[in-house]
Amino acid sequence: MTNDKFRNYDNVLPQVKECYLKARKFQSIEFYDYAVKKYCKFDKQASFWELFNFLSNFVDLSDPDTNLSNHQHMYQTAEAIRKDGLPEWFQLVGLIHDLGKIIYKIGRKEDGTNMENQWAIVGDTFILGCEIPKEIVFPEFNCESKYKDYTKLGIYSEGCGLSNIKCSFGHDEYMYRLLKFNQIDLPEEAYYIIRYHSLYLWHTYNQYIHFENDKDKLMKEWVKKFQKYDLYTKNQNKIDEEQAKKYYNKLVKKFFPDRIFW
Ligand code: FE
Ligand code: FE
Repeated sequence: MTNDKFRNYDNVLPQVKECYLKARKFQSIEFYDYAVKKYCKFDKQASFWELFNFLSNFVDLSDPDTNLSNHQHMYQTAEAIRKDGLPEWFQLVGLIHDLGKIIYKIGRKEDGTNMENQWAIVGDTFILGCEIPKEIVFPEFNCESKYKDYTKLGIYSEGCGLSNIKCSFGHDEYMYRLLKFNQIDLPEEAYYIIRYHSLYLWHTYNQYIHFENDKDKLMKEWVKKFQKYDLYTKNQNKIDEEQAKKYYNKLVKKFFPDRIFW
């Protein structure tokens, strides 16, 4: 399988384009603040597998590469990491990196957070409050953004660090906050991967380097490493979920409490 088979947006379904157009139009600092306040309250509780099962029917409308459920995608990613003999926390990240898509359970159409309207759940992310690089997917939509006339630095300063910027809201940010809220003991690298895996402009297209601090530069290598497993494991070879669950349940028990706030 060649690499140029993936992330080709030339002949995508209209739903993929639609999702990207709406994100460019409606994602803003104000929307981010609103979404964090509204969706990151974490006032409900469930077991890990209850949360995981929410995704068995979820299909990512922005993804040009797979029409399998996210369940399968997460198992495929985790299994590939495991096969390469990488540490348990990394395998777990493979399994949970897209779990944030569960916001569709509490989302609504107007916010782009439900099954039909996913512009604030899925798709590549971008930084809010500054110029959007033309390396983004569908750069022709940039004219729809509130930030179309902003400068490269916009509201930020050189080297301010990614932790001081706001990215378009989606499953990355939600999951990052969920893990923080529940005080899940994962290394810093894991938190970076979860929070920025959809920021292709940064980890793959070398944009936003003017915002990086020393820590971001170090962590970027891990996000890049993860990205290969996220992308190139998408195929039609179905994983035996029952079998896989037996193994991953042990990891889940190591890292997660019985009840998780979401
Ligand atoms: Fe993702
Ligand atoms: Fe993924």
